[in-house]
Amino acid sequence: MQRLKKIAIIGLGLIGSSIAHAVRRGNVAQVIAGHDASADVRARAQVLGFCDSLHADAAAAVRDADVVILCTPVGAYKEIAEQIAPHLKAGAILSDVGSVKSAVVRDVGPFVPKTVHFIPAHPIAGTEFSGPEAGFASLFDGRWTILTPVRGSEPAAVERLKNFWAALGSQVDVMNPRHHDLVLAITSHLPHLIAYNIVGTAHDLEKVTQGEVIKYSASGFRDFTRIAASDPTMWRDVFLNNRDAVLEVLGRFNEDLSQLQRAVRNGDGETLFDWFTRTRAIRRAIVDIGQDVPSFGRLPFQVYIAPKKGAKKKRGKKKPAAKAKKKNPAPRKRTKKRRK
Ligand code: NAP
Repeated sequence: MQRLKKIAIIGLGLIGSSIAHAVRRGNVAQVIAGHDASADVRARAQVLGFCDSLHADAAAAVRDADVVILCTPVGAYKEIAEQIAPHLKAGAILSDVGSVKSAVVRDVGPFVPKTVHFIPAHPIAGTEFSGPEAGFASLFDGRWTILTPVRGSEPAAVERLKNFWAALGSQVDVMNPRHHDLVLAITSHLPHLIAYNIVGTAHDLEKVTQGEVIKYSASGFRDFTRIAASDPTMWRDVFLNNRDAVLEVLGRFNEDLSQLQRAVRNGDGETLFDWFTRTRAIRRAIVDIGQDVPSFGRLPFQVYIAPKKGAKKKRGKKKPAAKAKKKNPAPRKRTKKRRK
């Protein structure tokens, strides 16, 4: 893509700083201007050095920028949009990274001048960490970024934004905002709600279990705690701004949970086994298309190198055979070997 003269990033936390790092890495813009409402965050960004200029005033940061990206929690968008709108350059692209999209169109759209291309976006990439120190250049590599153009978005501007995200290492797709919100409600928002719930419940039970939940936390629970450690402000704003879609998928989730509850109560091993086999296949499909590593990302910067064909497999210690006989032996429908 043609190198931009200036990009402005509003909000210098995990996503904003990662964009800055990736812009630097790809030589995507001559100047990276940054704004964050917090003086402390600006000072830390200064030390980290991922911006060329830092501004206490958002309006000053966006002046003359070719691309402006909002990277704050979505609850702050409306106020920021109102503040920066009169200072946006004609022909500039105004975009964002918010995890919900219909609410962004609702909150930001009315302030956007006719001369500016407003194209909301959402990189499906992140970690449970926040703040400017959490960002890194490869965050978007191989991940998807979804653009949700609004009515009247110029195709040429959409193309420019696509090229921008591709230059940051991302794959790019286009969707309408409502569809985005429904898809993300099931793939991201509901899992977070469940994680917040299960960890909260376990915490409540700590009184009964005398601290054993944390002491003996098994990997299943630990995986939930990782998700439940995600930024409270960001996730509060996600649920406040994607209410309908989240409630819709939550209703469906509750129905399915009742079905599992019935299967457990009735000792219906076949239903449980079939269900778990189906879900295991989904996990493998995600790994196979390169959207996660088999270790589940437990080691954040681990690189997974697929074994070469014909290479000898390392064997770990054999587990002792299960002692207890299954109460309800399920058919031994062993799935095929996992990887080539
Ligand atoms: P973050 O690390 O907490 O960074 C957000 C930054 O914005 C913080 O430095 C915050 O300062 C600042 N901020 C808050 N209100 C502001 C305002 N009114 N004006 C200027 N700066 C303000 O959060 P993040 O994870 O980067 O998330 C940012 C956005 O990315 C959210 O909209 C989220 O939905 C989206 N997103 C997140 C992920 C993820 O996994 N984290 C993935 C994809 C998309 P303070 O800390 O002082 O409040």
